[in-house]
Amino acid sequence: MNLEQSIKEHQHFTIHNLPYGVYATHLKSKRIGVAVGDYILDMAVLFDWGIFQPEIKENIFAKEQLNDFIALGKNVWTETRNKIQDLVKNKLAFINEYEALLIDKQSEATMYVPVHIGDYTDFYSSEEHASNVGKMFRPNMEPLLPNWKHMPIAYHGRSSSIITTNTPVKRPYGQILKGEEVIYSASQTLDIEIELGFIIGKENKLGEPIKIINATDYVFGCVLLNDFSARDIQRWEYQPLGPFLGKNFATSISPWIITYDALKEFLTEAPQQTVEVLPYLEEINRKNFDVEIHFDINKEKVAVTNSKYLYWTIEQQIAHHTVNGCNLRIGDLLGTGTISGKQKKSFGSLLEITWNGKEKIRINNKERTFLENGDTATLKAFCKKGDKQIGFGELSNLITA
Ligand code: MN
Repeated sequence: MNLEQSIKEHQHFTIHNLPYGVYATHLKSKRIGVAVGDYILDMAVLFDWGIFQPEIKENIFAKEQLNDFIALGKNVWTETRNKIQDLVKNKLAFINEYEALLIDKQSEATMYVPVHIGDYTDFYSSEEHASNVGKMFRPNMEPLLPNWKHMPIAYHGRSSSIITTNTPVKRPYGQILKGEEVIYSASQTLDIEIELGFIIGKENKLGEPIKIINATDYVFGCVLLNDFSARDIQRWEYQPLGPFLGKNFATSISPWIITYDALKEFLTEAPQQTVEVLPYLEEINRKNFDVEIHFDINKEKVAVTNSKYLYWTIEQQIAHHTVNGCNLRIGDLLGTGTISGKQKKSFGSLLEITWNGKEKIRINNKERTFLENGDTATLKAFCKKGDKQIGFGELSNLITA
């Protein structure tokens, strides 16, 4: 094994990244690890070496989810990150000496949903996506509804069906309007949505809104999110209360949480807002994360988009979510909503790429529109700045009948 080489050359898990995940191997029970190159640092074993004392007193890395670690707060996250970075940079001889205990191969690990997610909210923050949907479904009206530029629109999703990479997605059945007839059928228009998901790291009290200037203190980290969507079920059910069974059968998140500390190196200017917002949503210095996200079907490129295009920032999402006093809890997941760019090849869903099934795409030398059984849908993402690069790893899900 050459850990040093692997970290240096890795596209995703460089020394600048150090994301947290929950994994098990055939020899080890579920525990918390940090991805380094092609390997995983076993945090539960490292704890026993006393490296994380005095900040961390109990071995919360031996737990099956990250919530207890996250609850220790921002200073502990940063201190722990500094210690791991120092270890990997300066004490490789120590890691190599105890590699059999300290290190596992990612190829031999099973990954799990890394946090207990109490609540999941999905926003609708991309102007390009919201406009595309408006043009398709309300062709005789303004593409954006009158409220869209005044607040980040969202709905409450469901956390019980949140899955991670390598978990198959079973094509959902439900009610569909076919011509004038209501039928029960498997969805014929199964879609993906390219999104980022933010993991909440700090709670606000019920009744106490989070001010926009403090909003980033509430973010632990970020994952890739594929919001699987059955368009035909969604279209028939969504009025007047919004998404339900067309959405809640599977939402997939990537298994490694990229921390805010790692991501903040890749902040960039967010688009200027074209309508004045209320003071609680006002930002002086609007920033988005520059994350290039790739979507493949069966390893063939379908789209590449970037979260820097988002009209509503994570700070605005958090300020709006809590403006009425709603309390966020540690482990809550906030999806950005489908992220689309201006060009067709940067659209964040097959609905948009095929313009509601009218324009076919070619995969494996065959024409098609939406997901087919046997497809593997994969999201990958990268951040680059100068000679620094980090990635989110892969989020892959097989579609089954
Ligand atoms: Mn969505």
